[in-house]
Amino acid sequence: MTELADGIHCLDLWEEGRPGRAGTYLLLDDEPTLVDVGSSRSLPHIVQGLADLGMTLEDIAHVVITHVHLDHAGGAGSVMEAAPQAVLHCHPRAVRHLVNPARLRAGAEAVYGARIDALFGPIRPVAVKRVRSQEDGSTVSTGSRRLTFLDTPGHAKHHCCILESRGGGLFSGDTVGERFVPRFTGWDFVYGLPTTSPSDFDPDVVERTLDRLQALKPRTVYHTHFGPTTPAAEAFSFTHRGIEGLRSIIADLTPTSPLSLVKERLVDYIRGDLERLGHPAVDLSPLALDIDLNSQGMLVYVQKRALGKL
Ligand SMILES: [Zn+2]
Repeated sequence: MTELADGIHCLDLWEEGRPGRAGTYLLLDDEPTLVDVGSSRSLPHIVQGLADLGMTLEDIAHVVITHVHLDHAGGAGSVMEAAPQAVLHCHPRAVRHLVNPARLRAGAEAVYGARIDALFGPIRPVAVKRVRSQEDGSTVSTGSRRLTFLDTPGHAKHHCCILESRGGGLFSGDTVGERFVPRFTGWDFVYGLPTTSPSDFDPDVVERTLDRLQALKPRTVYHTHFGPTTPAAEAFSFTHRGIEGLRSIIADLTPTSPLSLVKERLVDYIRGDLERLGHPAVDLSPLALDIDLNSQGMLVYVQKRALGKL
């Protein structure tokens, strides 16, 4: 657990058993709040992180889920069972998946295959009466803070970002890129890339959402993967730059392009991008799962576009 700003702590969830992969944010206030909780495999890390601050999950009043992908919300049901005082807040489109995770699990199986159980563990449902569906612009007070929920499609249609009023922090989930940190990659620098995983990724919608969020002038972007970007403009800039770069891959794809080709092109892009940033000859193996998922997401986008199903 690391205190990043006034009452905002980041706790490493050790997603996929790896440090610096995904974090949960604890907002200390009259009504303590967690933002994103990872998969059920992360639960012991949340319990330990809270214990380090003399707290338990019974102290948590609000659990906020940015979207229902398993690395953010797979453990929501387990956390809610262990946090009897908490209510869960999420995007209106996320509610049914949290209450009945069967489709979510099937969708994740299509993306992750046999790795799903080892990566994420069980997916428990959340009781519907404990879920609050948060429309665009709705607010929740945690005491000295107001959390404003924003509908932020582009990465997922069930994605919301949360702006907090005290420090101008934006909890961005997967919307304002992914921040690869040294403790995850083993590199000696931070690298930012958009996350384009299936099945809703749409570069045009991502850019519209980024523009809208940036106009709100957040001071800091708190990424679920991983940690804060201050000033926030840097996160918007690396995500925009990445989307523009990925457009050059997408432009060459057809609905029948093999996934292996998309992956090759993405690896080439990342290598070129790192070189431009002054980091030649970097070992990309820590990004293997992201390269796989992001390639799948770009291909699914091209296939859906061809079918008129965006
Ligand atoms: Zn994620």
